Amino acid sequence: MAKIQAIRGMNDILPDQSASWQYVERVLGKVLGAYGYREIRLPIVEKTELFQRSIGEVTDIVEKEMYTFEDRNGDSLTLRPEGTAGCVRAAEEHGLLFNQIQRLWYTGPMFRHERPQKGRYRQFHQIGVECFGMAGPDIDAEVLLMTARMWKALGLRDQVRLELNSLGTAEDRKQYQQALTDYLEQHREQLDEDSQRRLGTNPLRILDTKVPETQAILEDAPRLADHIGEESRAHFQGLCQLLDATGLPYTVNSNLVRGLDYYGKTVFEWVTDALGAQGTVCAGGRYDGLVEQLGGRSTPAIGFAMGMERLILLLENSQLIPESVHDRPDIYVMAMGDELRQDAFAVAETLRDQCSDLSVVSHCGGGGFKSQMKKADRSGARLAIIIGDDEKAAGEVSLKDMTNAEQVRVARQDLAAACYQRLGAAN
Ligand code: ATP
Ligand code: MG
Repeated sequence: MAKIQAIRGMNDILPDQSASWQYVERVLGKVLGAYGYREIRLPIVEKTELFQRSIGEVTDIVEKEMYTFEDRNGDSLTLRPEGTAGCVRAAEEHGLLFNQIQRLWYTGPMFRHERPQKGRYRQFHQIGVECFGMAGPDIDAEVLLMTARMWKALGLRDQVRLELNSLGTAEDRKQYQQALTDYLEQHREQLDEDSQRRLGTNPLRILDTKVPETQAILEDAPRLADHIGEESRAHFQGLCQLLDATGLPYTVNSNLVRGLDYYGKTVFEWVTDALGAQGTVCAGGRYDGLVEQLGGRSTPAIGFAMGMERLILLLENSQLIPESVHDRPDIYVMAMGDELRQDAFAVAETLRDQCSDLSVVSHCGGGGFKSQMKKADRSGARLAIIIGDDEKAAGEVSLKDMTNAEQVRVARQDLAAACYQRLGAAN
């Protein structure tokens, strides 16, 4: 019979890889903790309407990338394509927003029906952050400083650079949209097909085009920066001043727009040149209008999400995942004969009681000395414990150092200390 395979663009994360994932999650979790962020765990499925109303009807995500289905009640549900909408929904539903400051983070899989390629998948994972209740540029700066610290903790500081822009208010963008449309209409024939379509639906997205001919036309287009009102301008200046004062480098990219409608004022991306077209590892911005748009009281907010797969690709490319994250057992316990199995189990259990930080693997599945030794070797364990009739009778075990094949007899009451001593030496 034909074997069933995984769905295209949805990857298994195998044990060798999951060690890298856990490492990255640990490092980022520590930085989040250092800034007082608290984790929120959200459902993977939400009502379709939530994404339509937040991300926007004429965005790539809602138009063509969502995994939407009818459940058995006939309700339209969607696998979340991003985390912000669900986070706002949950925070509002549970009263976390009114008159409160929140610094939240989440992690987990997101789903978008895109064309799979390196760094772009249909199920991918994000670590994201959402901050509520803070209107000033200070929190924008803090969020960026925190992400910079994350790169530093991962050893990526020289590989990513920060691009910033201000999208102004919804009113600013409306005016700008008109000016941009008027300009681009004059060049409609030279625009790529996608951009021609967007001209009538979501012209700001054209700024984000990757088509060189369209980019050339954009060079003489009216600039968003010239249509931004006083309040947004002051906000952006405040942010830039704070970043300058802390010495965090950035470039202002006036064509930086985000693919989700809810952003306004500050938007940013951390980009790398090492991942080809999938160069954005972290992206976010302010979305002061979203809570109200979803039926809550007006609440200032800012957030970002980073793509775990891209981050890990980048770390692997630069060999920045420490070898030590690839966890091997410390100790492999063998019994020379089935009648000694119970004794070997007792030794292993006692070790786990006494050395709860060590990983102890008991040989299971029978086999002679040679085949057990082979498995011990293959497991990568640094120590092997061998229990034969002699050892049992003497109340001892044989302890073998797999790194240099040295073997000694150890009294059982001294075993924990002997293991620690040898593992310490091996470290
Ligand atoms: P892109 O421009 O690369 O399509 P985006 O603007 O759609 O990204 P966001 O929705 O802002 O991305 O998501 C934040 C981050 O999540 C991205 O910067 C990226 O690192 C990651 N990401 C987004 N889509 C995917 C995907 N399909 N596969 C892997 N990672 C993704
Ligand atoms: Mg995208």
